Amino acid sequence: MKNALILLAGGVGERLASKEPKQFSKIGSTNLIEYFLNNLDSRLFNIIIIATKSEFRKKYLTSIKKKFNQHNLEFSISGSTRQITSKKSLNFLKKYNPENVLIHDSARPLASNLLIKKIINCLDKHDSCIPFIFHNDFIKSKKGKIFNAKDIINIQTPQGFNFKKIYKAHKSSTKIDAKDDSSVFELQNKKLKMIRGDIINIKITTKNDLEYFNRLKLKEFRSGIGYDVHPINFNSNKKLTLCGVKISHPPLIGHSDADVGYHAVCDSILGSLSMKDIGFHFNNKNKKWKNSDSKIFIKFCARKLILAGFKITNLDINFICETPNISKLRNLMKKNLSMLLNVSTKNISIKATTNEKIGFIGKGEAIAAESIVQITNE
Ligand code: ZN
Repeated sequence: MKNALILLAGGVGERLASKEPKQFSKIGSTNLIEYFLNNLDSRLFNIIIIATKSEFRKKYLTSIKKKFNQHNLEFSISGSTRQITSKKSLNFLKKYNPENVLIHDSARPLASNLLIKKIINCLDKHDSCIPFIFHNDFIKSKKGKIFNAKDIINIQTPQGFNFKKIYKAHKSSTKIDAKDDSSVFELQNKKLKMIRGDIINIKITTKNDLEYFNRLKLKEFRSGIGYDVHPINFNSNKKLTLCGVKISHPPLIGHSDADVGYHAVCDSILGSLSMKDIGFHFNNKNKKWKNSDSKIFIKFCARKLILAGFKITNLDINFICETPNISKLRNLMKKNLSMLLNVSTKNISIKATTNEKIGFIGKGEAIAAESIVQITNE
């Protein structure tokens, strides 16, 4: 076994003034730990340990192993101080006999894979590897003492070590409240290898930091595809409804109002959220949805988007039909979708094509619609 990662997540985060410990604070559909794990290249580590309180594990992390599909993710119990937590985690890690260990604060979710790789590579030649950054600001104390910014550095995590050496340093340490692992290592008269860290790798301590993180975090994009088709009912005097627009044209046959446009859009949104399909949520055997206005289904999907912390960046709908002429209806359809889904009409596209007289659509017996949506986290 070569590389191990310890993620320290036992803190209660009083400074954030929130009910939840900061590492579990909700950011859209995720939290700081999940955000970090989501972006982490887990191939870099043979084992990842999350050190946390058992109550936090039960409350916030029960599904994390399944969610990240990480067979190499384990939990250890945190201690009353950061130093004790590190020591206990190293002790837990002993059975895996790693060569190197990186110890990381879960309050730094923006640590990049590039920085992590740099630290791992550095450990080929050194027993420690500690990232730091310089200050760009003019620094003075409240009493007016001026500091040379070049003399002051910010120490970051992850901090990399030869496993045996940092474990030994922790076991020999008589203190229990070291601010970080590099201090424990240094106290054992061991020289630290320092490397340039990353300015984006901020530590989230206060509410302001959390807001700053929200601006810095990587955007997540997802896409979804939807398709629907309904036959035309030539024996009905009712109107056709496409994307909520009533049209003087024979209507479509369906359990609800058979709005193929809205149905395709719904399936694309549900697809982008990995939430099955419209038939799963609105069963066409259920009388409740008989003749219902498909606006209800679109509103349902709009709510699901909000709950997941996502918004639509663009929506592209394609109708496949011989009639009606979609170009005349385009602006009305866009207006409806824009209102219901809170998307600018500029980011909605409505297109149409015929089926060149081929097949049941080409013979004018049915209308189909397909939709592609792209969503992003807010
Ligand atoms: Zn349908």
